[in-house]
Amino acid sequence: MTAFGIDLGTTNSCLAYIDESGRPAVVRNSIGENTTPSVVYFERRDSVVIGSAAANAALLAPELAVRHVKRRMGRKDVDFHFHGTRYTPETISALILKELAAAAERRLGRPVRDVVITVPAYFGVAEREATRRAGEIAGLDVLDVLAEPVAAALSHQHGHPAGSPRHLLVYDLGGGTFDTTVIRVDGDDVNVVCTGGDRDLGGADWDARIRAFLLEEFTARHPRLDPTADEQFMQELWIMAEQLKKELSSARSRRRNLRFAGATVQVELTRERLEELTADLLQRTLKITEDTIDRARRQGVAGFDEVVLVGGMTRMPAVASRLEGLLAKDGPADGMPRRHEPDLAVAQGAALFALIKQVQQEDDGPDGRDGPDGRDERVADRLGISAEQAESMRSRNVTTVVPRGFGVKVIDEHDPLAATDPMRARFFVVHLLPADTPLPADSGPVVFGTVLDNQPMLEVEVWEQTRPDGTEELADNTMIGRGMLRGLPPRLPRKTPIEITFHMSETGRLSVHAVEPRSGREVRFDLQIGGMDKAAVADAKAAVARHDTTS
Ligand code: AMP
Repeated sequence: MTAFGIDLGTTNSCLAYIDESGRPAVVRNSIGENTTPSVVYFERRDSVVIGSAAANAALLAPELAVRHVKRRMGRKDVDFHFHGTRYTPETISALILKELAAAAERRLGRPVRDVVITVPAYFGVAEREATRRAGEIAGLDVLDVLAEPVAAALSHQHGHPAGSPRHLLVYDLGGGTFDTTVIRVDGDDVNVVCTGGDRDLGGADWDARIRAFLLEEFTARHPRLDPTADEQFMQELWIMAEQLKKELSSARSRRRNLRFAGATVQVELTRERLEELTADLLQRTLKITEDTIDRARRQGVAGFDEVVLVGGMTRMPAVASRLEGLLAKDGPADGMPRRHEPDLAVAQGAALFALIKQVQQEDDGPDGRDGPDGRDERVADRLGISAEQAESMRSRNVTTVVPRGFGVKVIDEHDPLAATDPMRARFFVVHLLPADTPLPADSGPVVFGTVLDNQPMLEVEVWEQTRPDGTEELADNTMIGRGMLRGLPPRLPRKTPIEITFHMSETGRLSVHAVEPRSGREVRFDLQIGGMDKAAVADAKAAVARHDTTS
């Protein structure tokens, strides 16, 4: 059974597998493209269109289309309504996944079921769970979700002979998200050292600046005309902005005609002007990169052997040149930015990881117990790969880190209000698992105390840092789940010890355990984030299955 890697991107998505020759290969979609625009168009109640056709249809009826849904993943407060049906970000993503899988099934003539889906490295627990659920709703078995930079590093490493340990800096600027990650590759081991990013920063922000510029140019010449209320004009402007941006990666200057209400304005945009209009956006990515490099340095990473550029936006010449400038500040950089098939590398790396997972899972199965004799052959046979490949996949070790700190909300006992009026006292977050801890991670029991005398129960609130460099202040964290430790024995004095343990699995699932050690009263919970229970997933699955998708 072949496993597939899926890059579920903000603007484009891509599916890959390991072909008969053992190399990762991208599967073209139904109209022969390597990548499929992540656009969903709700044509009729039971019919959706996905990909380029959806992007075209959206030009005429933008109110029936969803773009950039990845930016909304993990948000409980976001939904979409079309033809009387409600869709969550997960269901919209599921429609994209289903279309990619269906197209690959038609092209390869084999089922697509086991998949690894990539996510930005700094995606928190909620976004990862939402991505996993999107796969489930699409009827896929999600072997794992994998950080995009790790996928890029895996695909980069593939075909590079193992040598001395190398450090890579992955700079990934996509359509809607930015992340930057330091990775150590040592033989078969690929380890994330640290990671940073911004989920709301990407190509679409560049497009928005260009669109505003075009609009200003138009209204400067025709101050009495207001095209902003015309959805179609605005949608066309959006497309024009993105095209201009792409063309200016190779051309120095471009002209366009803007037509509205009988008026025409010719606008020129030069690469220099584009760089000025968006200088602060690029600067934000550099600042995050610099902070991430600083964190890596504190963990002993002295320099980089290679800088890998991923994501369509890194085709902009300004990205590589500013990044070179940043790295050169610390003396001559060994590795200069090198683009690495920005559109396809992530899906290919995910396909490699899917195969690694499969081989390792096969080992855990009944055959694993027979001892290693002939094991590679059996696994290879079942997965349709060579025994050498099976052996090499078995020894691969991919570790990632806790993307941001996770902790519990506690009361500041130095605040005098803590004893008299606890609700008004200062609260802060103690991070039990700090950012960059290697996964799987276990905090071990950390001792906290009850706040009041005779406290009958205790609420454990789990908070997640919103930025990797965030502090313990509540404002830098967000509440992601809670559990109640009930039935504490009577007459407990305040400050009775309560032990809390966090465990995060390799795949980023967080389990929490809180116990009052003397009575043994305890509570355990896994973070069920996003609030979609099994029944809701089943409903969403049925709703997605009903759609006859055509791309
Ligand atoms: P991704 O999410 O990695 O597919 O990145 C897509 C983003 O890259 C979109 O914002 C595209 O507009 C942008 N992009 C693609 N090609 C180019 C190019 N040649 N120059 C600048 N940006 C590009």
